[in-house]
Amino acid sequence: AGGPATRWAWVEIDRGAMLRNTRAFKKMLKPRQRLCCVLKADAYGHGAVESSKIMRSAGADMFAVATVAEGIELRRGGCSAPVLVLGEPPCDAIPELLENDLMPAVYTSEFALAFGECAVQVDKVGKYHLAIETGMNRIGVHYTKVVSFRRGIEFHRGIQCDGVFTHFATADDPCGWDYKLQCTRFDEAVQAMRDAGFECGIVHCDNTPASILDPESHHDMIRVGIGLYGLQPADATRERIRLDPVMSVRARVMRVAYPSMGEGVGYGFTYRVPRATVQICTLPIGYADGLARTLSNRMDVLYRGGRIRQVGNICMDQTMVAIQQTPAEPIPEAEYGDLMTIVGRDGDAEVSMDEMARLRNTINYEVACDFGMRLEKIYI
Ligand code: PLP
Repeated sequence: AGGPATRWAWVEIDRGAMLRNTRAFKKMLKPRQRLCCVLKADAYGHGAVESSKIMRSAGADMFAVATVAEGIELRRGGCSAPVLVLGEPPCDAIPELLENDLMPAVYTSEFALAFGECAVQVDKVGKYHLAIETGMNRIGVHYTKVVSFRRGIEFHRGIQCDGVFTHFATADDPCGWDYKLQCTRFDEAVQAMRDAGFECGIVHCDNTPASILDPESHHDMIRVGIGLYGLQPADATRERIRLDPVMSVRARVMRVAYPSMGEGVGYGFTYRVPRATVQICTLPIGYADGLARTLSNRMDVLYRGGRIRQVGNICMDQTMVAIQQTPAEPIPEAEYGDLMTIVGRDGDAEVSMDEMARLRNTINYEVACDFGMRLEKIYI
């Protein structure tokens, strides 16, 4: 792809890979089970509106976002599927939830009753999903308190429970005690509500790793994020499913130079040119684009199917790479406009999100989200 007209750095999104990944999760399900595609954080940096269209065409039944603003963006982008907001927003957000037909996660009775009041006023029924705390200690009604919680809100005709869910803290280890305990607590909570006569609607708990590693816990719906983007959440899932990376990050050389031996490159001169034949190329991508500054002098960039070194401190909007000839492996010198790959494939060479995550001492989730910050997305 040529990239956007106005900037020589961009994120490339492979529609085919996203379609195949979405279908792979859809294929895991039994006929009445649903696929909820998690599109929070601008679809983990992949562009939420475009991603929603691709995933919908591959069988997505529902979408999940983290914030009301993300839900509204989907609606404005033409998404008509059910949309779940995975946290309970402030009460001030209720009119916008109702107006845009977004379902909040609920775990306080104050919010639930305010939601019901507003819904009645506009002649609607506010659908919500009950968040259940089963061990992650993040959000939700404690699993032992769900029945009393429901009793305290359910009299209200303005609200309706469309689903109940929990979230796993250790789904990469489905044989572990912690995971099993969360499953048991969730099952207990669901059973207790049913025994007390409360409808539970769609019962769901599986994220990507649980969906892949523990089909027993699929319940009525799986809530998949990272896997749709072709990234593995854990080593354990790698051997169970093939996923195709969706995002590549590319840039074009905007300047070439041959500084003299001993000259410094970038802020603080953390790299000095070791000999006069080193070509320094500048790429218009920096830490404000998700190329973390901690990668400075530690990462490779792909050029003509091989690896070259990034040198000097990564700047906010630019970074430099060095083409240093070795007699064994002569590298063609770069020219203004030449393509370089920061993440993705170039011929047989590849820099994966996982490689970058290891270098940054973080997870592939964060690396992908970060590249979504400012770079234009090109869908191919
Ligand atoms: N459900 C909830 C509540 C989440 O917070 C997330 C993301 O962290 C997901 C589902 C999707 O998780 P994953 O990206 O591991 O599939």
